[in-house]
Amino acid sequence: MDLGLFPFAALPLPQLSPKPAGIHEDDRYEVIVVGAGPAGLLLTFLLARYGLTAESVLYIDARATRVQNGHADGLQPRALEVLRSLGLAGKILDDGRHFLSSEANEIVGCYHEANPFSSGCGIEYSESIISRKPGLVVSSTSDQPTLAPGTRLPNVRVKRYADGAYCDLHDGGYSLLLNFWYIKLFPMLTKWSEMFSNGRFRILCLTSSDLLSPDGTSARALQRIGETILPQFASGLIEQFVIYPSEQCPPDWVALPPSVKRYSEMRLYDGLAVDDAYRLYGIDTEQGAVIVLRPDGYIGTIVSLADLIAMEDYLKGCLTFMREQ
Ligand SMILES: Cc1cc2nc3c(=O)[nH]c(=O)nc-3n(C[C@H](O)[C@H](O)[C@H](O)COP(=O)(O)OP(=O)(O)OC[C@H]3O[C@@H](n4cnc5c(N)ncnc54)[C@H](O)[C@@H]3O)c2cc1C
Repeated sequence: MDLGLFPFAALPLPQLSPKPAGIHEDDRYEVIVVGAGPAGLLLTFLLARYGLTAESVLYIDARATRVQNGHADGLQPRALEVLRSLGLAGKILDDGRHFLSSEANEIVGCYHEANPFSSGCGIEYSESIISRKPGLVVSSTSDQPTLAPGTRLPNVRVKRYADGAYCDLHDGGYSLLLNFWYIKLFPMLTKWSEMFSNGRFRILCLTSSDLLSPDGTSARALQRIGETILPQFASGLIEQFVIYPSEQCPPDWVALPPSVKRYSEMRLYDGLAVDDAYRLYGIDTEQGAVIVLRPDGYIGTIVSLADLIAMEDYLKGCLTFMREQ
């Protein structure tokens, strides 16, 4: 959901309800927000955008003093995305000190050396309908957090086939490009990562090297995903991303299963041109794999290209699907 759209477009909410008997006018509020931390303050901000004024919103906190030491020294890309969608990121970016989090090894370094909590890579959700375990076991390299259902997908840098752009796949943050004039002028044109928060599930297919062979495992898997699995769900509910282990562009769209252009025209990437996505994710280029990502960027399940029944089962277990005709 683009948080920026709704509050701007929303009509002001009705003002105060009829006065209840025995309560003084000054003591009536439509909403009382308890807790003036970031969550409470953001809610208050959103209520103000919806038209509620200080007369109808009260926010209270048990603590009488301000927090003395810093509790928000660093902002994660996801938090900045939300602030940006509300039009609040500009001043923070102008005033803040920037660092590039675009390289996978920074996330890895963060995981190992400093703070597995704030990188998100140290959290592992337990088994549930949205974290299907054990999933496919991928042989991660020793310098990389294990890729498993319930953990966060680390970022990799990839090259987009459609326009040759180098992109951060996940949690890329912003880069020094933000200083370029055209990005300042057209901030809405820039995305901070290819998988920016939009509330959708994602299928990330790391194809095997035989993608261009029509009878290969990858082509058949993509065909099945595009023709049988995705149409069972509401349009746009699941986005498909495809990574190909070759620096050589596919010669033409016709060399690929038609569903790749249909669902992934701007989401088809070279997985070796920048980072070696296969090595970092521990996926064999001869085997490939499919990772299903939840909207929060955590892995829902990992399946082999030949086991799409498990993926379909996972999606049907947590999403509403349309009945087969
Ligand atoms: C030392 C430290 C450093 C951190 N650094 C970072 C950082 O660099 N970057 C980052 O993104 N995050 C950081 N965090 C985490 C961040 O501070 C929290 O994620 C964030 O504050 C959570 O916001 P919140 O509104 O959910 O809760 P809180 O900030 O905890 O706010 C809840 C508020 O509710 C009040 N309250 C609770 N119960 C009641 C009640 N019954 N009645 C009235 N009021 C009540 C509390 O007094 C409190 O003010 C840090 C945290 C700590 C402790």
